[in-house]
Amino acid sequence: HGKLKVSVIGSGNWGSCIARICGDNTKNSKTFEKEIRMWVFEEKVNGRNLTEIINEQHENIKYLPNVKLPDNVVAIPDVTEAAKDADILVFVLPHQFVYKVCESLKGVIPKNCRAISLIKGLDFRDNELALFSEEIEKILNIPCAALSGANIASEVAEEKFSEATIACSNVDRDGPLFVELFTASYFDIRVIGDWRGLQVCGALKNVVAVGSGIVDGLKLGNNAKAAVIRGGLVEMRRFGKSFFGGVHTETFFESCGVADLITTCAGGRNRRVAEAFVTTGKPMDVLEKEMLNGQSLQGTLTAQEVHDFLKQRNKLDEFPFMTAVYRIIYENQPPKIIVECLRSKQSFN
Ligand code: NAD
Ligand code: 13P
Ligand code: CA
Repeated sequence: HGKLKVSVIGSGNWGSCIARICGDNTKNSKTFEKEIRMWVFEEKVNGRNLTEIINEQHENIKYLPNVKLPDNVVAIPDVTEAAKDADILVFVLPHQFVYKVCESLKGVIPKNCRAISLIKGLDFRDNELALFSEEIEKILNIPCAALSGANIASEVAEEKFSEATIACSNVDRDGPLFVELFTASYFDIRVIGDWRGLQVCGALKNVVAVGSGIVDGLKLGNNAKAAVIRGGLVEMRRFGKSFFGGVHTETFFESCGVADLITTCAGGRNRRVAEAFVTTGKPMDVLEKEMLNGQSLQGTLTAQEVHDFLKQRNKLDEFPFMTAVYRIIYENQPPKIIVECLRSKQSFN
């Protein structure tokens, strides 16, 4: 049998960074075919197609500027074209776009293909919250692993050290393959079996990061931020254990757990925009457009999805912190409730 063909579905800030790592790893590989096909949601940048710019300059000048991509990463505007014949599909899209893109790939994916989801978010439809790896498995009828970690894209792109976690149900079969595809000297991976816990962490830490930005906007200091991180972590675990079977507490000690929470609450986009929400009084969606140049916030939408899910189930009072984030962002509640909600007499620990 031949070498494995890898396609990356997505090319944003993290997508471009991860395509770069994959491209470096497939360049001289016995396992993987050299060329990485990367799907780019086409748009004009300075009057030209972004795909053409990427293929000529080997740089995603809009979403990961000033970082060269290996020339074996090829940008493709048609998602079907990018994904067909793939042996490995890497999904790395803002979570609100995933379902539609997946549906459009129905019937074009070879049956021996394997997927991995790098998406941080949960799929919210019909008042259900699903894990993207499980949705991808269902829609495309192929196995899907997940990768998540303390990985701010700009730092990984500068080749500063980070860790990441991969989770899959078949660790022996899929672990080594994905480790080979994603490992770099500056990107160290551990494999675990708890794909549910890993994805719950990746989704919910973005809500905690919004809370952390609110703390910064109020200038409440490091102790208050630590309190928010602690309270958020407690609710992340409670959420995982309450609504997803098989979530292990150990997962919260991996890079995908507490480490991602710390880095996102210190240096992420959700934190930065939420801080501006407090200091400027502008709505989050306005700030997202003003501050992120097309990149996507995941935490505000996830806060809403989690809130709607909990409300439907009469569980808001078991998640006072997640609920406070929602009420500050969407219901005009005073930002100071971000710490008020943690007070011991109101908490349910
Ligand atoms: P991003 O935030 O840079 O989002 C922009 C991307 O979305 C662009 O590629 C754009 O073309 C695409 N897009 C816009 N509209 C679209 C549409 N209608 N359909 C499909 N695509 C569309 O994206 P990202 O940073 O690569 O994030 C992808 C996922 O990876 C997210 O779940 C994110 O939380 C996660 N993640 C991000 C980072 C990071 O530091 N950026 C790190 C780890 C994980
Ligand atoms: P932000 O989307 O808040 O920048 O978080 C990025 C991330 O997931 C770091 O691991
Ligand atoms: Ca479903």
